[in-house]
Amino acid sequence: MFSNLIYFNKEKYSYPDPDKLQEKLSSISTISASDDNKYVVFPGFCDIHVHLREPGFSYKEKISTGTAAAAHGGYTAVCTMPNLNPVPDNLPHLNEELKIIEKDALIKVYPYASITVGELGYELSDFDALSDHVIAFSDDGRGVQTEDLMREAMIKAKSLGKTIVAHCEVNDLLNGGYIHAGNYAKKHNHLGISSESEWKQVERDVKLADETGASYHVCHISTKESVDIIRDAKMSGVDVSCETAPHYLVFTDSDLEEDGRWKMNPPLRSADDRKALIQGIIDGTIDCIATDHAPHRDDEKSRGLKNSAFGISGIETAFPILYTELVMKKIIPLDRLIELINDNPRKRFGIPSLNDYSVWDISSKYKIDSTKFISMGHSTPFEGMEVFGRCLLTVCDGKTVYKIK
Ligand SMILES: [Zn+2]
Repeated sequence: MFSNLIYFNKEKYSYPDPDKLQEKLSSISTISASDDNKYVVFPGFCDIHVHLREPGFSYKEKISTGTAAAAHGGYTAVCTMPNLNPVPDNLPHLNEELKIIEKDALIKVYPYASITVGELGYELSDFDALSDHVIAFSDDGRGVQTEDLMREAMIKAKSLGKTIVAHCEVNDLLNGGYIHAGNYAKKHNHLGISSESEWKQVERDVKLADETGASYHVCHISTKESVDIIRDAKMSGVDVSCETAPHYLVFTDSDLEEDGRWKMNPPLRSADDRKALIQGIIDGTIDCIATDHAPHRDDEKSRGLKNSAFGISGIETAFPILYTELVMKKIIPLDRLIELINDNPRKRFGIPSLNDYSVWDISSKYKIDSTKFISMGHSTPFEGMEVFGRCLLTVCDGKTVYKIK
């Protein structure tokens, strides 16, 4: 009998029959009912921003490996971005993706359709045909540059009861940058991505959301200005929500090294930006923490800051990082963290949770070691960091999808 088992917020979530859980845990040979580690049962987490790379880029990640990695991170539901080949911009294209999901997904996978054909920003995807089969519409990886087209997308999405999920980035303000236009870039002669390139488009879009009444969600916000704009918009009643990612809450551009594992888009920003993001998760301006799990093949990430691909693997480290850096350091309580990685994303996108949970040994301390990732992508800025929280078991829809060896 594991008497050291705690159910997180037992009244709120549907947890399994205790006998069944005891049985599942007893089948794990590496843990013992007599140790005094602290085991906590959580609801299965929900990540609304991942890149599973199939179809089109299965050399980076597959639906099978990406969902197994998610299960290792305690996630039982993920929403996967449409920067694929083919881009799910019409039903036949989406069906290619759905077929692989049907065949290989270990947990629940909800695909996004693109906002524009080919994510090229010229004409809208086939919203009518796609709407019933996707979680929302997004051109993640790039911003929709034209205001008129974004307005049209919002009107269309609203008529179908869908949310527009935006990667906000003004191409004209990028200046060839690949890290934050801050102190590190200046000191080491790198081209910088301005904060403006993000918040200018957030500003444009919340105005459009206000005008059209559309449901609008901003991906991976990284700047203090974005936090302020979204806070104000929420206060004036705009239907806007947003997410940030673990790395923006932990690191700043002063942590950068000449290594591709520090390169993602948006980039790690300044200490003031990080402070504003933390304030945003405390005061409720930021609704969700999503990982933006964006795996690449190792050699695509080993070309330094300038030439490596944008994106890092994040889904296997999110909970331990956030628990260690935010909860244990008393920045937010555990309840708030679970809201950010479970309740809010599920509520915003209508993602159900039934018989989904994970069990963690939150007293287990270890160093993050990307060679142990299940994901095909091993590039992470969290490499070597000491964290608490080891996932022992993840169950999705009653089925064991991860079990520690
Ligand atoms: Zn993005």
